[in-house]
Amino acid sequence: MDKTVLRNLSKEEQKKFFQSKYEYYKRFNIRMVTVATLAYLSFFVTDCSIFGHFSYETLLSRIIVIVPFIGYLILGKKVTDYRVMVPVTYLMIHIIIWCTDWATYLLPDRQFAIPGMIIMNLIFVCAGFSAPFKYSMPAHLLLLADIAIADIFIQYENVEMMYLFNLPCILAVGAMHLMMQGVYLEHYIAKEKLQKLAVHDQLTGAYNRNILKEIVDSSTGRLTFDTDLSVAVLLMDIDFFKKVNDEYGHEAGDKVLVHFANIFHSQVRDADYVIRWGGEEFLIIMPGRTLEQTVQIAETLREKAEQSDNGVCKATISVGTAMYDGGDYHETIKKADEAMYSAKHNGRNQVVSYEMSLQK
Ligand code: GH3
Ligand code: MG
Ligand code: MG
Repeated sequence: MDKTVLRNLSKEEQKKFFQSKYEYYKRFNIRMVTVATLAYLSFFVTDCSIFGHFSYETLLSRIIVIVPFIGYLILGKKVTDYRVMVPVTYLMIHIIIWCTDWATYLLPDRQFAIPGMIIMNLIFVCAGFSAPFKYSMPAHLLLLADIAIADIFIQYENVEMMYLFNLPCILAVGAMHLMMQGVYLEHYIAKEKLQKLAVHDQLTGAYNRNILKEIVDSSTGRLTFDTDLSVAVLLMDIDFFKKVNDEYGHEAGDKVLVHFANIFHSQVRDADYVIRWGGEEFLIIMPGRTLEQTVQIAETLREKAEQSDNGVCKATISVGTAMYDGGDYHETIKKADEAMYSAKHNGRNQVVSYEMSLQK
């Protein structure tokens, strides 16, 4: 399936894509609205020049825009969901348009209406960068409704010209947004691939250690799972693996590694993390498992490893398990390591639980 076409993504993937698009352009979006608001305020100088004196008449219609603008800034800091912030951005743009209409209504000379529309269209161009096309197109089309409503009060001399000028602008901007969305989709897919590569081991498909950055708080070393969950850590090491390499060659050794990684993946849930910890060592982190469940799962993994055919030779694993205690995760790994070495020391091909066998 060609992932570079939006409709080929699942609903969930599409949501992730639009969220990423919004976050990528978020700062640009906020600055664009800031510039648009400042530009709107600066037109007060134009008002003064049209009136030939300090324009008390349009002062309120200009200044009032600061209120929704501050609201927009506060919301932009608190809310990150594109489904809220994109419509809010467009609402802010329409508020600027309504205020412009109000100021225009108060001005004695309305010949600047069309040049003003050029600026408005430019703002819609900029707003579309962070927005899904299905949001940007209707939001831009509403400009025609703004004109129709404003015309009731302003009675433009040339309202047909306003429509004739804006409709092609809206269609052209829409076409451009659709193309830009395609460009960002290609960028997004490439970025996702790179991110996936960065946290995965190429040989076994298991995670590599980089995944810890996503599940560990770097300042405290705590795992970032729900604190109500008990979290199990399993450390597995293939027994006498050096012999496998020595007797059957490195490639055969790789095959055994891939086989074991597949066994581990087949026995865990999506929420669990199978990590290639070192050469022939794997770490599994399982949120939401009790001590008894953990030992049972470890025993199943050991049994499957021993009994399944890896296509090379008989091979077994030694497993050490430990329960995460809520502090620095390194402490739990140390315990699992201690348990695993105890399993090795006791004759290999066995499971040792730190809590059941070693805890003093
Ligand atoms: P023990 O039962 O005590 O764990 O013995 P062992 O032989 O498994 O332990 P040791 O740590 O001495 O050997 C691990 C071997 O794993 C050595 C190294 O060549 C091999 N190894 C590490 N990474 C890879 C890899 O990516 N592919 C292959 N084929 N071998 C690897
Ligand atoms: Mg080892
Ligand atoms: Mg080993």
